[in-house]
Amino acid sequence: MRAHLNVVFWQTILATNFSETKEFIQTYMNASMFVGGFLFFGFFAVLYYLAEYKKNWVLKGRWLRVSRWAFILLIAVSFAETARPTIMFNFCIPELSYFAGRFSLEKLNAVLNEGKIDLKKSMLVPELEKVGDSAPQKFVVVIGESYSKSHCGLYGYEKETTPKLRTLQNDSLLAVFNNVRSSDVHTTAVFKTFLNTYGEDDKDSLAWYEAFHLIKFLEMIGFRANWVSAQMNNSFFESVQDKNAQLCDSVVYVDARENPYDGSVLRYVFNGPEKESVFYHLMGQHTAYEKRYSADKRIFSEKDYAAYPENQRSTLAHFDNATLYNDSIVYELMSSYKDDDAIVFYFPDHGQDLYDADSAYAGHGRDGIPESFAAAQYIPFVVYMSPVYKEKHPDEVTRIFASVDKEFVTDDFAYSIIDLLGYKFAKNDKVSRRSLFN
Ligand SMILES: [Zn+2]
Repeated sequence: MRAHLNVVFWQTILATNFSETKEFIQTYMNASMFVGGFLFFGFFAVLYYLAEYKKNWVLKGRWLRVSRWAFILLIAVSFAETARPTIMFNFCIPELSYFAGRFSLEKLNAVLNEGKIDLKKSMLVPELEKVGDSAPQKFVVVIGESYSKSHCGLYGYEKETTPKLRTLQNDSLLAVFNNVRSSDVHTTAVFKTFLNTYGEDDKDSLAWYEAFHLIKFLEMIGFRANWVSAQMNNSFFESVQDKNAQLCDSVVYVDARENPYDGSVLRYVFNGPEKESVFYHLMGQHTAYEKRYSADKRIFSEKDYAAYPENQRSTLAHFDNATLYNDSIVYELMSSYKDDDAIVFYFPDHGQDLYDADSAYAGHGRDGIPESFAAAQYIPFVVYMSPVYKEKHPDEVTRIFASVDKEFVTDDFAYSIIDLLGYKFAKNDKVSRRSLFN
């Protein structure tokens, strides 16, 4: 779990861009942490300065090296702790000794090496066997961001955050799955598993980047693949998300400086006669929540949360407003394919811990705190079937509606699609074993 935190830490730092970092700090930093961090840091900064620049200072040799490492270490710890501020003082000491013992430049190195991976070259491609003729004309996946099932109106949340998707549900065009979890609570970790066939039981035999990928499968059965992302690619480091995108024939990154809201992706709809797959990657409810919707879309305000502790009200209102806006965008995306033989999946990479484990904490699910991890793991998962799709694929529609209560983890998503589109692996029965629709 700690090793995992370390990898996540480096990936976050390297894959993140400046504005995200700023939002991250605004979201997680509070005044006491800031002062604490400043003093904490300042002490070592002074020590380091004396050791480095005042040559007659007593700190020399081994101690000089120790203080230098302690300084670097503290930068790392301070960053890592911004993700879990409420437990800063409980965890600081073990975390420090952990970093001190294994401050892993080798982990950094592993992440940097991962940056060089080309999925097209590393992927192992199995032999496919066609078992049915059930592929639609348009296969669409809308990937949300940081969306918890507990704040989704479709699942009975007290606030109506999904009025638009509910109309599709009422028209029997939307299947709502009740027991779906993400494979992890961090974007990068999820993106290593949910669009390929990599899963828990492959961990000893395979690396994630060697696993057969859904986009490769779609290419093999004659689909063109398009990627439309509202999560801009301006980091210093190629992220795991970008590596998934690169498997597509066309990739669009919407410029978030000109188009700060997810509605910008609606310009990219693929209604041509070709067999096409589209992957939309939204900003969804990414922190900071208030930045995900415009002022005119503000419906919920603090006064609607009188039953909640005061410190939570504004954050909850912003999250629910972002969710309501997200509902309208996902609805529009689905409706853009209403005249095609189309199926559209929508689910987020992972959810959020919205004061579920600790009345003072909202943000990413925290490893090692079961209530926090679980809150961020349970996610909405819905499937839109266009009227044309319903008419042409009645057996698949039956299978989809029959599966809504199954327990499912999104790392088996690729298997489920291979199965639903009428294929299996020639050499084993993994597709039918892992498919949600079986
Ligand atoms: Zn995410």
